[in-house]
Amino acid sequence: AKAAGRNTFRFFDPSMEASVKKRAELDADLRLAVQNQQFLLHYQAQIAEAGRITGAEVLLRWQHPDRGMISPAEFIPAAEETGLIIPIGLWVLESACRQLALWAKQPAMAHLSVAVNVSAHQFRKSDFVAQVLAVIRNSGANPERLKLELTESLLVENVGEVIEKMFALKSKGLCFSLDDFGTGYSSLAYLKRLPLDQLKIDQSFVRDVLIDPNDAAIARTIIALGQSLGLAVIAEGVETAEQRDFLSSHGCHAYQGFLFSRPVPLRDFEHLVQSI
Ligand code: C2E
Ligand code: CA
Ligand code: CA
Ligand code: CA
Repeated sequence: AKAAGRNTFRFFDPSMEASVKKRAELDADLRLAVQNQQFLLHYQAQIAEAGRITGAEVLLRWQHPDRGMISPAEFIPAAEETGLIIPIGLWVLESACRQLALWAKQPAMAHLSVAVNVSAHQFRKSDFVAQVLAVIRNSGANPERLKLELTESLLVENVGEVIEKMFALKSKGLCFSLDDFGTGYSSLAYLKRLPLDQLKIDQSFVRDVLIDPNDAAIARTIIALGQSLGLAVIAEGVETAEQRDFLSSHGCHAYQGFLFSRPVPLRDFEHLVQSI
């Protein structure tokens, strides 16, 4: 550790050294994971009123050779900082489109849409639009079944460019959902300029919607906002029938959450769809 002089911080304490080392290991492992194809996707059902499955959100999983399944919350931030989110995100998009093209040939699955999380770093790349269109073309997926989930972190700078890209993709049939709505920096002024299709109520507001009046007020407000802007609203993290009933009674009729299904491997998701 560095010697701490007068009025200086001991900024290199041992615990930090350990975390720097851990972080370097994570970065190296992530690089290998990309090369060795250690990623897989789980599918979480998106539900409309009456329990109909309208599609799935694909959620990334990392099958680490020693550490087992690692949650995206643990590695997405690192992947964003190192830029590895670009090849990883491309792989997610390719896999999702390949699956859409396969489902299109199965009568029981052909109606499903797929929602893909797109990180702000990925969206900001200058060739993002061209890349998405190439993936769609090569896979044969119907772009109208592809939904991109964006977050408010995109709205911090160059919003004009973001809007242009969204319009370019929308003109090809894709749709957009604003993920984790209400947790970031969105300005209501942007909301009316963005060509969005859907707002997604973050699970942090859904969790205590029945016991915390503030969360209930926020959830109701997001639903009302969506309605008045002509946007669909979906709630994530719905775990109980009571939460669903509350949301439904206030006009939110699309849900995602453990009440209906956890994120599951492809086969399980397909069985779920066919069993309903
Ligand atoms: P998110 O987009 O907000 O996804 C929802 C998260 O909530 C998922 O966590 C999901 O498993 C979890 N969840 C779903 N229903 C429930 C519920 O009823 N209760 C509770 N407690 N949790 C529920 P997961 O899969 O660990 O993903 C975490 C985050 O990682 C995602 O949050 C998303 O921001 C990011 N992520 C996942 N896959 C990708 C990806 O392919 N690309 C990018 N850029 N980010 C991804
Ligand atoms: Ca999401
Ligand atoms: Ca979300
Ligand atoms: Ca969330």
